[in-house]
Amino acid sequence: MKTIVLKFGGTSVGSIERIKKAIKIISSHKKGGNNVAVISSAMSGVTNDLVKKSKLISNNFDKAEYDSLLATGEQASCALIAGGLNDIGLKSRSWLSWQIPILTSGPHSGARIENIESKILINYMKLGGIPIITGFQGINSSSRITTLGRGGSDASAIMLAKFLKADECIIYTDVDGIYTTDPRLHKKAKKIKKIFYDEMLEMASLGSKVMQPTSVQDAKLNNINIQVKSSFIKKPGTLITGSKKEFSNQIITGISSTKNDAKITIVGVKDKPGIAASIFKPLSENLINVDMVVQNISLNGKETDITFTIKSEDLKKTEKLIKQNKKISYRELSFDKNVSKVSIIGVGMITTPGITYRMFQALASKKINIMVISTSEIKISVLISDKNIKKAIAVLHKEFKLD
Ligand code: ASP
Ligand code: MG
Repeated sequence: MKTIVLKFGGTSVGSIERIKKAIKIISSHKKGGNNVAVISSAMSGVTNDLVKKSKLISNNFDKAEYDSLLATGEQASCALIAGGLNDIGLKSRSWLSWQIPILTSGPHSGARIENIESKILINYMKLGGIPIITGFQGINSSSRITTLGRGGSDASAIMLAKFLKADECIIYTDVDGIYTTDPRLHKKAKKIKKIFYDEMLEMASLGSKVMQPTSVQDAKLNNINIQVKSSFIKKPGTLITGSKKEFSNQIITGISSTKNDAKITIVGVKDKPGIAASIFKPLSENLINVDMVVQNISLNGKETDITFTIKSEDLKKTEKLIKQNKKISYRELSFDKNVSKVSIIGVGMITTPGITYRMFQALASKKINIMVISTSEIKISVLISDKNIKKAIAVLHKEFKLD
């Protein structure tokens, strides 16, 4: 008998009608003769609403209480699912994470699952029951409720699949899979049948919001194959996997883009050891995430320019931190809010030369100016002007034969 973990995201349980649809999906997996365990997210909008409420009470809401508050959304959706399954004659009950328990470590709102005491769930499934478990949460060693970060129910599903030694893990969501690029930005985007963990990690952290990045990391570490599918329409989805068998020789798997980037250039800083560290130290202390960084080679050996990107919402704070920074001197500071990062991703580029050239050439053919470049083994990113995003995606999609 197979064991299958099913996860339903917020929109897949976003209304009573959709919950009924989820119940049908769960029942069809059960009737297929499988052990089925379910992780559910809160109904869409609920968690956001709880965040708002906490802010109305305090701008400095206690971190443990914040998690305790945010975790409530999942209790409702899980009970509704279990009640619905009971109604059609199936054995099911809901479980809150502390009742199992799901043990986590790490800070509130950013905890990671360490262990799931799966025996109680396995016994229940042996009796034919379907456990419905709250995603996104656990408890810590002081028995306080923790949450796994927004979108964290993906990680709950993957870790449950690990501790149940499940044969399959299916993530039901509102899109029918992972696409070569955002279909809203490029009509010719196509569904990807199989994608490697590393590629998915790049796609997930670069702005394709289908899966929470840490959950993909968990899947990779534990070698859990994940299927991403729509709960709205019956269609094959995307398989996220580590196995290299049966792969086509597609070089580039997908193209992603970010929004809300900002670029900062510090002109004429002293070219001496420790300067970059002095610039970035206050930013890191203030939890400002720096993404792309370039430092020009200084011509006279005395001065250099440093350019880096951050999220636009951090721009004001960053500007202030640089201006207050007594450890650095510079001639000029400039900002650009209207920039975006476009990246091509694919494990195929490790073994294929000439990809960088083809990317730059394709962008040049559309007269798209590249401001900053960064690369990793399986990714090339360029920073371009916001207004060129669609054009860039279209030309790259075509160049790398994804159309
Ligand atoms: N309900 C949580 C959130 O909105 C967890 C999740 O949806 O995965 O972030
Ligand atoms: Mg989600």
